[in-house]
Amino acid sequence: MAPYLLIFFLFTNIASSLLSEEEPVAIVFRFQQYLNTTSSFLSEKETVAIISRFQQYLQIDTAHPNPNYSLSTAFILSLAQAIGLESETLEFVEGKPVVILKWPGKKTHLSSILLSSHTDIVPSENQKWVHPPLSAHIDHNGDIYARGSQDMKCVGLQYLEAIKRLKINGFEPVRTVYLSFVPDEEIGGKDGTGALVNSKNFEEMNVGVVLDEGVASPDENYRVSYGERSLWWLVIKAVGSPGHGSKLYDKSAMENLQKSLESVWSFRASQFDLVKSGLKKEWEVISVNPVFLKAGMPSPTGFVMNVQPSEAEAGFDIRVPPHADSTSLERRIEEEWAPASRNMTFQFKDKFPTVDKFGNPAFTATDASNSWWTLFEEAVKKAHGNLAEPEIFLGGSDARYFRERNLPVIAFSPISNTPILHHHHNEFLNKEEYLKGIKVYESIIKTFASFDEPIKEGE
Ligand SMILES: [Zn+2]
Repeated sequence: MAPYLLIFFLFTNIASSLLSEEEPVAIVFRFQQYLNTTSSFLSEKETVAIISRFQQYLQIDTAHPNPNYSLSTAFILSLAQAIGLESETLEFVEGKPVVILKWPGKKTHLSSILLSSHTDIVPSENQKWVHPPLSAHIDHNGDIYARGSQDMKCVGLQYLEAIKRLKINGFEPVRTVYLSFVPDEEIGGKDGTGALVNSKNFEEMNVGVVLDEGVASPDENYRVSYGERSLWWLVIKAVGSPGHGSKLYDKSAMENLQKSLESVWSFRASQFDLVKSGLKKEWEVISVNPVFLKAGMPSPTGFVMNVQPSEAEAGFDIRVPPHADSTSLERRIEEEWAPASRNMTFQFKDKFPTVDKFGNPAFTATDASNSWWTLFEEAVKKAHGNLAEPEIFLGGSDARYFRERNLPVIAFSPISNTPILHHHHNEFLNKEEYLKGIKVYESIIKTFASFDEPIKEGE
């Protein structure tokens, strides 16, 4: 904890000077050229301060494999203090801080709202970027280049900026608003959100709805997801008697594995055909992709060429939509892809359930049965944002930990008219788009935190 405190004090000074809206002349000068098109709801001064805070966060190196969580924690805590939010740093695993901020609501018996974001970023190939990925350089179009500008430091700070503005305007929440800044989402989230949702602290937070990250949208409609496909990492293994490379015989390890590969490949084709023919969207089918093949007896120059190996393995990245029949997929794996009758075994390197802890498909309702969804649609509209048709995300995120607990999660990043650059080179977000997103969150947070009607049993 000590290093966070130390750096916290350093940042407190920087942040308080920024939050008092008295920017150093140098910074004002630096941004002068970008101010002409600034959104009308903010003054020039506010814009400069807001963009500068975003740049500071982007410049903190929280890239794997050695994310500097001390620095990001200190930065978030300093902003929270300047805005006047309660804060707590939880460390379920040493060196992996989960920062929880709290804006208490007037009616504490009502369930709370959780605004979730991760502080870590994926590594970058620096030489392939037009501007260094930790520079947060702003080009002549107002595009801010940085790893994390889309995924998802933008969202984390937009939550805070929106709350700051709501507070300035005198808004008082009915429901308590929490923010979580978590580590390790990019490496599975087990020690971050995964640990948080299983903690006593989380129980006490009495969360009723979660907002988490989405992806950018190249057109004017914000993308939003109500579920995601579950990740299954499968390894199948074949064994067979070894033999001389010149001999023909049945049931070698390679033959056993080859039969499985044919079966996997034809299943993959059947799913892919549904997408190609337009009958299903990509997120509606089960995807299976081979990621490794392992066999053969190594030699100093490659592989021994006259021995048929006794073992052969293959690995697959499988993604299963929440609506899919996962029981029949499990049976397929057992009977066709790795049947004991062909000397095959299998194991999952990782496997997330497609159902929540009550056995229901793990997705969030996007109709009138879910008040949060209706409120969300209204709030985005009020902020002049358009929503695309809700979808299931192809990949995974921390949202699954909440959905496993049957909590509604709206996965959404207010990024429109922007190429999708999560994990790509030259990730950027335009300054105007970032500012517009703050307005959208202001509307969402205000709408959610004002919602006075009971949602959960006992409210
Ligand atoms: Zn992310």
